Amino acid sequence: MQGAWIAELRELLGPRGIVEDPTKLFPYEADGIVLLRRRPEIVLLPRTTEEVSRVLRILHRERVPVVARGAGTGLSGGATPVDGGVVLSLARMRDVLAIDTVDRVARVQAGLVNVDLSLACAKHSLFYAPDPSSQQACTLGGNVAENSGGPHCFRYGNTTQHVLGLVIVLEDGTVLDLSEPRVDPLGFDLIGLFVGSEGMFGVATELVLKLMPKPETTETLLAIFESLDAACDAVSDLIRARHEPSAIEILDKLTIEAVEASVYAAGYPRTAEAVLLCDVEGTRVEVANTVAGILEVARARGAIETRTAKSELERKQLWAGRKGAFGAMGRIAPDLYVADVCVPRTRLRELVGHTTRIARERNLKLATVFHAGDGNLHPNIAYDRRDPEEVKRVLEAGDEIMRLCIEYGGSLSGEHGIGLEKMKAMEWLFTRDDLATMCRVREAWDPDRRMNPGKLIPMRACLETKQALVRPEERPHAEAHR
Ligand SMILES: Cc1cc2nc3c(=O)[nH]c(=O)nc-3n(C[C@H](O)[C@H](O)[C@H](O)COP(=O)(O)OP(=O)(O)OC[C@H]3O[C@@H](n4cnc5c(N)ncnc54)[C@H](O)[C@@H]3O)c2cc1C
Repeated sequence: MQGAWIAELRELLGPRGIVEDPTKLFPYEADGIVLLRRRPEIVLLPRTTEEVSRVLRILHRERVPVVARGAGTGLSGGATPVDGGVVLSLARMRDVLAIDTVDRVARVQAGLVNVDLSLACAKHSLFYAPDPSSQQACTLGGNVAENSGGPHCFRYGNTTQHVLGLVIVLEDGTVLDLSEPRVDPLGFDLIGLFVGSEGMFGVATELVLKLMPKPETTETLLAIFESLDAACDAVSDLIRARHEPSAIEILDKLTIEAVEASVYAAGYPRTAEAVLLCDVEGTRVEVANTVAGILEVARARGAIETRTAKSELERKQLWAGRKGAFGAMGRIAPDLYVADVCVPRTRLRELVGHTTRIARERNLKLATVFHAGDGNLHPNIAYDRRDPEEVKRVLEAGDEIMRLCIEYGGSLSGEHGIGLEKMKAMEWLFTRDDLATMCRVREAWDPDRRMNPGKLIPMRACLETKQALVRPEERPHAEAHR
């Protein structure tokens, strides 16, 4: 890329703040969905809100599309620059700016890696609750843009419930400071609107996040089942019995085999058809009662073995298996299609049965992991992207699973977002009026649709909205319609 504006960006950011060498642009071609790729022309790495603002002013003037990028761990193609242009990476904006132990909030730069926030506030016995399984790598800004979840979001809620303030730079470089005041914000809920906007409303540069006090104690328990159905039924039973674990996860047989063959080996029995993994947090008395209640439910549903972790090391090991499950699936095949769908909890067992059938009919290897408490299922298909025929079957299976979830009153995504991957499915779930309203909201933030173009809302819906907003006599071919 050439031009006076590139020279301006070089001058502004210095040699470490701009990547132009095509060989070094390779990692920015895709996120975790490697089937969808497009190389950006350049990558910019600003360090402050002021630099982000100056960068966006230049790009606005030159009308260049721009895609914000955290760590690129997204699983819906969100950070893939479909229109080329500029990727704006937050990788050099990873400072913890302040921790307030009385208000229990942290102010951080948006490129901070999720787990680093909990590490930074551990000495105050505080933690940041949303814990995506990618938390060792993903950024808090990416979490905000995707409204990410994680195992412990069953108890604590997804990211949106933990964002108290934001500093956002709009597409024309305007800085919107929504970080103060933090109590009872008035007017439209701009923060709520921004969370989950998938990089299409602006770039979040600073975040004010809620911190939680560490519980007095945490116990981790594992129940081993001879069938996946029984594990699903146990989840319904324990919720019906009003037990309140902080996390409820299920792993199926193929996932267990992959985990146990990998560096994340957690000691799950390889012969099991499914394991149920729960965390219980609170005071010692509460925890002891809840653990006893859950174990009773699991046994009543036919658990062949139950265990509670005896040490912090064992606890960490049991969770490392769950959190490393996607990575471990590299043991099955070179590529992984991670579906992310949601249904009402009561339909989980039925959905699991259908996803198994869908994969079997297409001769695909399916390994399922779920945030069972939230009805959020990840049917993961291990495949080889060098085999185009297999890729076709994988995508067909993904589509059928999404259609089924809609039929069951569920949603297209529990936490990974729509991005590029599920854009077409938005038309299966939403009406034209729904999509038209989304287009208008998007254009209020980004009138030229240069921020992360080509994502989330199908282009057709936006064009139709534009058409509808033009007075009938001004529409092209108006004569022909008279
Ligand atoms: C192994 C693995 C496990 C995972 N487990 C989970 C899980 O348990 N729960 C879950 O929810 N997700 C999970 N994910 C998905 C992913 O980690 C999350 O979506 C995460 O929030 C993405 O963060 P990121 O920093 O990598 O963002 P990226 O992938 O870089 O970007 C994601 C989107 O956010 C936008 N964006 C990034 N930063 C900003 C910013 N500062 N301002 C505005 N927009 C921005 C991008 O444009 C893009 O649209 C997992 C992924 C992997 C690979």
